[in-house]
Amino acid sequence: MRTIGLIGGMSWESTARYYRVINEETHRLLGGQHNARSILYTVDFADIEACQAQDRWEDAGALLAGAARTLVQAGAGIVLLCTNTMHKVAPAVAQAAAMAQFIHIADPTAEEIHRHHLSSVGLLGTRYTLEQDFYRGRLEAKGLRTMIPQEAERKALHRIIYEELCLGRVTEASRQAVRAIIASLQHAGAEGVIFGCTEIGMLFGQDDIDMPVFDTARLHALAAVRAALSVPA
Ligand code: GLU
Repeated sequence: MRTIGLIGGMSWESTARYYRVINEETHRLLGGQHNARSILYTVDFADIEACQAQDRWEDAGALLAGAARTLVQAGAGIVLLCTNTMHKVAPAVAQAAAMAQFIHIADPTAEEIHRHHLSSVGLLGTRYTLEQDFYRGRLEAKGLRTMIPQEAERKALHRIIYEELCLGRVTEASRQAVRAIIASLQHAGAEGVIFGCTEIGMLFGQDDIDMPVFDTARLHALAAVRAALSVPA
């Protein structure tokens, strides 16, 4: 079993979900007293959020690359950056983790969408993820069309992510608001929806939505377990 290195804290609420999924899935596959071998490097999200707000992406990239190097030096054979948004600086992190296997969060997500034979999917996430090319471009290069919410909806979603979910607050009002955004994406032709922010799964899961849900945090964590145990997808 290879050791999974997690760069977490963005936010720690969603990192906690990664931790649970990698351990539960490892136990499901191996049984007995097995859990995943892992190392967690938690950054202070305040540092990352300040870089985002001040457009200092290179600084954030350097910070996260340092985290990746630390994990590899400590023995991680697989490295995950536990956030969609910060994949804007994935090239710097992947380079720092070059001695290990870096799994880009969009890749297991795209594989799962292809397994469902879908081509047009709605995407939920921060404004950085929705409005820039670093994430949608990677999915498009894999033949997937992503549909994003309207401007006012993107603003509302961004606020819910940073002011509520990243702080562990789950409210019924926000659940309804995000459900309405998903409904409008479906109405516009989306065949499924990507939870392209690792905290969205705090609001609901597949059972609450009547089209396929692609929860990136869960898919990313499951991909790490498969890689760690050399289990085919
Ligand atoms: N966890 C979120 C994401 O998946 C947002 C927090 C961040 O900016 O990293 O995009």
